[in-house]
Amino acid sequence: MQQDYGTLYVVATPIGNLRDISLRALDILASVDCIAAEHIDLTRHLLSHHGIHTSLMTLHQHNEHLVAEKIANLLASNQNIALVTDAGTPCISDPGAMLIHLLRSSGHRVVPIPGPNAAICALSASGIRSNSFFFYGFLPVKSGERKRCLTSLTTFPPCTLIFYEAPHRIVECIKDMIVIFGTHRQITLARELTKVFETFHTDNLENTLQWLLADENQQKGEFVLLLPPVFE
Ligand code: SAM
Repeated sequence: MQQDYGTLYVVATPIGNLRDISLRALDILASVDCIAAEHIDLTRHLLSHHGIHTSLMTLHQHNEHLVAEKIANLLASNQNIALVTDAGTPCISDPGAMLIHLLRSSGHRVVPIPGPNAAICALSASGIRSNSFFFYGFLPVKSGERKRCLTSLTTFPPCTLIFYEAPHRIVECIKDMIVIFGTHRQITLARELTKVFETFHTDNLENTLQWLLADENQQKGEFVLLLPPVFE
């Protein structure tokens, strides 16, 4: 690698509270030549909150390959680029991995700038006493496939299972979990982390379903689902 190639910085951004961003991340976002962002408007909102005016380009799952070439060319002309997504750490249930794979394969320098991640944020404040966890991310959208995935996890060694779920699927997802794991399996729902309506709810699956059904407001927003291990 020649000395005068640029660097791609993989920058974690807040998952809600705009102040949850590291000083180093702000330095990088202010000093790079361009920021590749999933949704420019969302990232511009974050940047203007911190008085940063760096130019932006769009990178999402449908144009990642195309933009990867453009970014490789910019790095080759000694420009530094930052990659961010809408919230949290890029490549964690978010785009970016294909870009980074391509850049690393051709010898480019890629530097992580660590910060927020919804799964770790939820786990850290859940009170679950288990050292090991398995991060699944989003389960399949269709119930049949979702149940098949959940079934495959029943043979896992004991560990906390962590999922992301969208608000319009949360009730259906819990119903499928009841079918596969039984009504008494414990769950923690971590909702709207770092935001005004941040909620942690811990109970068994059946009671959690009833709690969600009893108040539609509890079905709104963003969710992390944590299922602690069952020790036989
Ligand atoms: N890259 C992100 C990260 O590092 O956590 C995850 C992006 S993924 C597209 C978005 C999902 O993450 C949401 O559907 C939700 O499951 C979870 N999530 C993101 N922000 C959250 C928040 N503030 N509270 C709870 N869950 C959140």
